[in-house]
Amino acid sequence: MKKDDCIFCKIANGEIPSNTIYEDDLFRVILDNGPATKGHALVLPKDHSADIFEMPEDTLAKAMVVAKKVAGKLKETLSCDGLNIVQNNGECAGQTVHHFHIHLIPRYADDGQLIGWKPGSPSSEELEKVRKTINGES
Ligand code: 5GP
Ligand code: ZN
Repeated sequence: MKKDDCIFCKIANGEIPSNTIYEDDLFRVILDNGPATKGHALVLPKDHSADIFEMPEDTLAKAMVVAKKVAGKLKETLSCDGLNIVQNNGECAGQTVHHFHIHLIPRYADDGQLIGWKPGSPSSEELEKVRKTINGES
């Protein structure tokens, strides 16, 4: 299903032109118009889901297969040295377009980009408490 006011629904379904580098019946992969690096691409499902929590499992699995296929194409054609896969869910996690998408970000040895986080240093007790919460043990 498409969502009327969603820009990625319109792009994925060809209603708005884009720099498409892959397309099949379920997905379109486009170049990001604010790229982190050369070749930064977005895997867009043609059906609307806001985020990973709404994505049907079978489409999600197929999205990762498309991500691998296009990642290989980017590596081969752009000779990148590495590649980050990023997928944001929710505003506090950096999501700005609320139509599920996977970022493919080719990395070059000297690209100067920062994609990461500040590592924490929890005690073993704190980690155990988190595990128990997640596993429903407390
Ligand atoms: P998010 O922050 O939601 O994970 O990623 C949204 C991405 O979509 C951003 O990297 C942004 O540059 C890109 N973007 C937003 N609007 C458009 C658009 O209209 N066309 C293209 N090609 N990319 C877009
Ligand atoms: Zn949409």
